[in-house]
Amino acid sequence: MVAKEMTERQMEYLEKAREAAVAFAERLGHAPKSYVETFGCQMNARDSEKLRGILLSAGFTDTEEESEADLVLYNTCTVRDNADQHVYGRLGRLGGNRKNHPERIVGLCGCLMQEPHAVEKIKKSYPFVNLVFGTHNLYAFPELLFRALTEPKRVFAIETKTTVLPESLPVARKHGFKSGVNIMYGCDNFCTYCIVPYVRGREVSREPEDILAEIEHLAADGVKEIMLLGQNVNSYGKGLALPATFAGLLRRVCRVEGIERVRFMTSHPKDLSDDLIIAMAEEEKLCPHLHLPVQSGSDRLLKKMNRHYDRAHYLGLVEKIRAAVPAISLTTDIIVGFPGETEEDFGDTLSLIREVGFDSAFTFIYSKRTGTPAAGYPDQVPDEVAHARFDRLLEAVKAGAEERCGRFAGQEMDILVEEENRQQGYVTGRTPHNIVVHLPGSKEDIGQIVRARLTDPRGFYYFAERVMNSKCTVDSKSIAFCHSEEQRDEESRQL
Ligand code: SF4
Repeated sequence: MVAKEMTERQMEYLEKAREAAVAFAERLGHAPKSYVETFGCQMNARDSEKLRGILLSAGFTDTEEESEADLVLYNTCTVRDNADQHVYGRLGRLGGNRKNHPERIVGLCGCLMQEPHAVEKIKKSYPFVNLVFGTHNLYAFPELLFRALTEPKRVFAIETKTTVLPESLPVARKHGFKSGVNIMYGCDNFCTYCIVPYVRGREVSREPEDILAEIEHLAADGVKEIMLLGQNVNSYGKGLALPATFAGLLRRVCRVEGIERVRFMTSHPKDLSDDLIIAMAEEEKLCPHLHLPVQSGSDRLLKKMNRHYDRAHYLGLVEKIRAAVPAISLTTDIIVGFPGETEEDFGDTLSLIREVGFDSAFTFIYSKRTGTPAAGYPDQVPDEVAHARFDRLLEAVKAGAEERCGRFAGQEMDILVEEENRQQGYVTGRTPHNIVVHLPGSKEDIGQIVRARLTDPRGFYYFAERVMNSKCTVDSKSIAFCHSEEQRDEESRQL
């Protein structure tokens, strides 16, 4: 069956799932409620929006209270062992409460479900889990939901490669004003510590026309900010019938009317092209933020990690991107405790952090993932050594990030307001550089881009004051201040 037919078949199953949900509601005595929880990355968060879209379309209502849900679905992650343990812990709690919910459907999906040992464990130790499906089965969720609603036996569906992309099905976005858009699935890089290529499969790019059509549709629906998603967006286009590059795609996305900000995640340093750097400098809608995972500052470890670049290459990229976009915010991922890491290797990582001056970094202790090459390396770093290095790493990242974040003090910026703040009379949003800003406002501001002056740096975030009728025309990609240093000092004294 070709992909189009399989998608059409799912639309038919959605109709059947609706009928089955009506029967489910009769058994329950109320309209069924569903609770979807996302573990892990932005790819999973986007998948969960699709899962919720299908559930709502089938007649479920959303609840944020897991305890009152008639269907609980965990969209799992398996990049680190603690992500696995977290899911098992939560299942244990659900199992303890199942007397109160004899009809409840408990489902598991996502990356952990691509691991055969995890599926075996669910089969044996968690008999109340009645729906399990993998990352490649997301497109078939209407059919699987129908089966879970109508069949007495447990439903397991785990494919090992992507046959149909999970597109063209209903989506329930978390935010009305911003949205992730998958441009590709899977990864071909096989970094030696990473489980993703095994659980998400090989790289598959979507056709540019399909991506653009989705973004045009989102823009018509009020979306202002787009985040293009992929495990390695810089290699977008491989395998498509007509040649396409990520830089070319970005430029076309920036032309979509109504879209005001474009972001992307995640970039691999080995595939970051000059064309992309030029596009970042030239395209106004492209936000001046680049997340560029370095993982280690040691050439020896980068080689063992199979990253295909060295420290000098990474630093060269940083130089180029800062020359093109001076105010860019640079963030990264760093692993400590990779097998064989010596004090000298770790010192190289610390010195790289100081040399680059990251705006922020996601820091991780290496987690052994069964099936990856690094899991078999003999020289695993003892836990206490890895933890001690992790603490030192955090200090280095924090010190550098506070200094970097403070460079925008006094500058006016456009803030896309995302939510109300817990502090009454305040809202929270982000600058184009992805820095969190708290400013006076109300819920009517959510989804609006408002002008504000960043008055009060607090390490990783700012407090700001709103600016009406600003005459300042600051280019967010170059470093420019609307006020003199003296004015700024005076203002900060008044705070
Ligand atoms: S690029 Fe490396 S770290 Fe990133 S998903 Fe692929 S294998 Fe994992």
